Amino acid sequence: MADQAWVAEKAMGYIQTEPNIGASELRKKLQAEYKCTIGYHTVNKGKERAKNSLYGTWGKSFQSLLNFKAEIDKRSPGSIVEVDVKRERGEVHFRRFFMALKPCIDGFLAGCRPYVSVDSTFLTGKWNGQLAACTTLDGQNWMFPLAFGFFATETEDNWIWFMQQLHRAIGHLQTLAICTDACKGLENAVKIVFPQAEQRECFRHLMANFKKKFHGDVFGRMWPVAKAYRLETFNYHMAKIFEAEPAVSVYLCTYHNLKWMRCDFNTEIKCDYIHNNLAECFNSWIKGTKELPMDELADAIREKIMILVYRRRRIGEMLQGEILPAIIQQINNRTRQLDHLVVGRSTGESCEVKDTSKNNLRHVVKIGSRECTCLEWQHTGKPCEHALAFLIETADVNFHPYVHEYYSVSRFRAAYAGEIEPITDKSQWPHVNIDFEMVPPVLKSSVGRRRKQRIKSCLEEGGGGGSKRKKKDDNGKTNSQEGGEKEKEKEKKRFGSKNRCKECGILGHRKATCKQNEAKKR
Ligand SMILES: [Zn+2]
Ligand SMILES: [Zn+2]
Repeated sequence: MADQAWVAEKAMGYIQTEPNIGASELRKKLQAEYKCTIGYHTVNKGKERAKNSLYGTWGKSFQSLLNFKAEIDKRSPGSIVEVDVKRERGEVHFRRFFMALKPCIDGFLAGCRPYVSVDSTFLTGKWNGQLAACTTLDGQNWMFPLAFGFFATETEDNWIWFMQQLHRAIGHLQTLAICTDACKGLENAVKIVFPQAEQRECFRHLMANFKKKFHGDVFGRMWPVAKAYRLETFNYHMAKIFEAEPAVSVYLCTYHNLKWMRCDFNTEIKCDYIHNNLAECFNSWIKGTKELPMDELADAIREKIMILVYRRRRIGEMLQGEILPAIIQQINNRTRQLDHLVVGRSTGESCEVKDTSKNNLRHVVKIGSRECTCLEWQHTGKPCEHALAFLIETADVNFHPYVHEYYSVSRFRAAYAGEIEPITDKSQWPHVNIDFEMVPPVLKSSVGRRRKQRIKSCLEEGGGGGSKRKKKDDNGKTNSQEGGEKEKEKEKKRFGSKNRCKECGILGHRKATCKQNEAKKR
């Protein structure tokens, strides 16, 4: 008999391997495996039961974070794990969580570039809070997870708290760039907690907003503006834009006054990314965990980090030479495309390089100080094409001395040197005695079944160009009222009298309550 208890028992395995599995998919799998027909409703309820027994009830998962913190503090001293609560009407509610493991902090400081990308994404479990994350960049240009946390909404207060914990973890860095999507709360939090940091904003997000206001030639010229290393190039294109559309100037000053143009980046960072790609990497990396209860979620991400660090440490151990082979390969590939450059030597250390494809545009390369007037070398830490044209004139040239240390094998190894301590399952975590019972945060009300499919970001296929994300609107306003109306319209359509059953095709009822379904049940 396929009742809820039966489904709960059989579904355990599926849910463990795929926590995000939907009820319809689970139903298909169960029906295929056990050759029977089960009602959708039965599967859905059974799935809930299975989850409850697997992960404990949702409410307890918040309190369990305290035990998780105790376990991490015990096994990985120096890690920053914080659980913050809020007292409201005599009850203690969970408020927010932060975690940065000691090996990640050390790895960032010793092996990564001083560049941090910060972003947040919706959780899809019973609590629709935010999962915030800080990521950085290793020598291979791979995403390095530095810290993460949870809170209810992207308020300035929550972001300040989150950034303060990050500050405790990494300390005061004189040279640091922080890249965000420039939502107001986070932007202000970065200004308050890391006033010395260079604050960059994602150019792709900027353009998603920009295209709502400006079109045509003005729009197309924005890319050369953002990508230009030299201020002269930036000014040239910017002047053309202002000439065609004077309103752009006011618009950019008002809504996008963070650093999104390369010419304004600090060359010490050695990262010239104009997009917030790392945040997107993190989000797809943790996909499939966002539906878990809080303690399981924190533990699942910790486990992912542990495995990632181990795997990359093994890669580091196998690498040879001074500079990462992938970077040397990149440079070698580039040396095959230098036919358009003509080198005029002045000394053994300096030269002029003419670009015949660009009207004999000429740059000056100084090998000794690792610089070129095109500025690319200074920004990326890797020789630009002009420098390469000069360097390859020497037979058997060794590029290693001309690549920045950030791309060295030793830095890469340093990033993954710290071992993430394995921890036990939650039944064995220290039981923290507190004089109160921590209850879940107050749920935000929502109409109908909540969306599990998150709104796609502008980077993904089929994404709405970022424009649909309420929080990242230029004015920082949400259009929830408008959304509410639309929701109601949809609800009407969905639950009106004209329902056609997908199972039997008859009007007047839905699949979940279909008689045919009941009859087929084993
Ligand atoms: Zn150059
Ligand atoms: Zn039916």
